[in-house]
Amino acid sequence: MRIRKADVILIAVLIAAAAALWAVTELTAEAGSSITVSVDGEVKWTLPLDEDTVMRIEYPGGGYNMLVVENGTAQVCEADCPDLKCVHMKKISRDGECIICLPHKLVIQVHSSEKSDVDTIAQ
Ligand SMILES: [Zn+2]
Repeated sequence: MRIRKADVILIAVLIAAAAALWAVTELTAEAGSSITVSVDGEVKWTLPLDEDTVMRIEYPGGGYNMLVVENGTAQVCEADCPDLKCVHMKKISRDGECIICLPHKLVIQVHSSEKSDVDTIAQ
């Protein structure tokens, strides 16, 4: 199969459009500087996003979530909840983004530095 010039141009345009869209998203969304880990509505931990960490969150009633902070993003890499929705959620790194595990009442949320006073109030 021969690749026509028109196809090449179309692909180039699509890639450029995708790159432009990505750049706009990157520039407008504010990068977070820390994450809070809340269990049952209570903030248990505040972790910096710029330090790579692996944390196993365990619950008194059993169960766990493995939280991974890597390259300024946070994600749940492993859990034993029935739906595993938290494991399948995308990595979070922008202010306000969160990962929720309903069965474990776990909420991991990204905060920017300007809002760090919220953490103090919560504690
Ligand atoms: Zn889960």
